[in-house]
Formats: sequence, structure tokens, C-alpha cells
Amino acid sequence: MSNENPNNADPIERREFDHRHVARLTIDSDPWLSCDDCFEQVDSVVEGVVAENIPLSAPFGVHLAACPVCHEEAVSLAELIAEDFNLSPEQAVARLEAAVEGAAA
Ligand SMILES: [Zn+2]
Repeated sequence: MSNENPNNADPIERREFDHRHVARLTIDSDPWLSCDDCFEQVDSVVEGVVAENIPLSAPFGVHLAACPVCHEEAVSLAELIAEDFNLSPEQAVARLEAAVEGAAA
């Protein structure tokens, strides 16, 4: 460990590596979908989940798991459209919650 000095590495290459590394970590652990992006897609995504059990994309699921505002929005949407697909609001929300958990896991 004592021989390793990160400052000896080429600074440009190092920065690029760090950048990619951080970006990858961010995808795994943090929401990187903005609330605006989320809001734009939430209608069709929630409908896909409720109607056909289509899995959420990872960023979408992570965002819903981490963002109470968008989560709330998605839940009310699921409740709202449940009837259209012969589901009770509870069933629709349960599907949504399962999809969020699946995507964020
Ligand atoms: Zn949000």
C-alpha cells in the first residue's frame, strides 16, 4: 500500500477513469433520472406495469424507490388506472411496488 501513490498516475487518464467509475456506481445506487424525466415517462411506465407487468427500467425503479414525490405520483396513477385493467387499486399498487423493488434491487 505504501508504494502506491495515486499522484504518480497520469492525471488526465486518471480523471477519465474516475469519471466512468463514478458514473457506474451512480447508476447502481443513486437515482440519476431527474424528476422531470420521471414525470414524462411515468404514465406509460405505470400503465405498462399495471396492465402487463412490464418490469421497470433500473433508473426508473431506483428513482421511484428514492423519490417520495414521484413514488406518490406513480402510486396514484396506478390506483387511477387500475379499473381499466380489471384490477383493484390495491392490486395495481402491489404490482407497482413489486416492480419498484425488482428494479431497485
Ligand atoms: Zn422524482
